[in-house]
Amino acid sequence: MNDGPIDAGFIGRRGLILILSSPSGAGKTTLTRNIAQAGGWGLELSISVTTRTKRPSEIDGRHYHFIDRETFIAMRDRDELLEWAEVHGNFYGTPRKPVEKVLMDGRDMIFDIDYQGTRQVRSKLADDVVTVFILPPSMPELRHRLERRAEDTPAVIERRLKNASVEIERWTEYDYVIVNDDLERSFNTLAGIVTAERTKRTRNTGLEAFVEGLLAESGFV
Ligand code: ADP
Ligand code: 5GP
Repeated sequence: MNDGPIDAGFIGRRGLILILSSPSGAGKTTLTRNIAQAGGWGLELSISVTTRTKRPSEIDGRHYHFIDRETFIAMRDRDELLEWAEVHGNFYGTPRKPVEKVLMDGRDMIFDIDYQGTRQVRSKLADDVVTVFILPPSMPELRHRLERRAEDTPAVIERRLKNASVEIERWTEYDYVIVNDDLERSFNTLAGIVTAERTKRTRNTGLEAFVEGLLAESGFV
């Protein structure tokens, strides 16, 4: 059960897998963390493993589990990753166990992963997956955000900008698209998506019994 602000959680429903993807710098990490940390939304954040070097502002175990290539390959070969991909020259993957636990509990989880990982998760958990693609308002603004973030070297920023068009071209594979111009507006749109998806009839497994109860109460059936 979920206790988001608008969820009729007492009815009971299947857990939701919310995936955000974007070209680097468009703002998916900011949005993902904002909604995971904002009170009341009940979205558990998936913490990936990566072979990428830790950025100055990042904390091991909170932003990523930073591991070496050998450990990554061992995890992958033991089937401990729900999905994995090579992105911008580094390995990234989603540990399987935490996802299974959250879904078993009927809770919702949010993922910041690329389009390759999104495909893998969708093929495994189709009905429970909702995907959102984040676009930048313009390419100069994308560059500006990467530079202002000031966490990557100029060479890494150039590589990410070079890969941006390949990533943007995947936008049609996603259920929803948000042009992240104003952060607050984007957050509200994302929150609206979560609300709508949680309200879907097919996802609310307890509705049938609830409606039967209502009809019985009405005394006319
Ligand atoms: P991504 O995870 O897509 O690589 P980030 O979330 O790290 O991107 O955002 C890149 C930079 O842009 C960060 O410094 C972030 O604070 C900033 N940012 C995110 N969204 C906006 C926005 N709507 N307007 C201005 N700056 C933004
Ligand atoms: P960054 O290095 O900027 O944190 O992430 C680079 C890219 O890797 C982003 O597109 C991000 O969504 C993606 N990514 C992060 N974690 C994972 C993961 O576990 N799996 C996959 N497939 N991609 C990931």
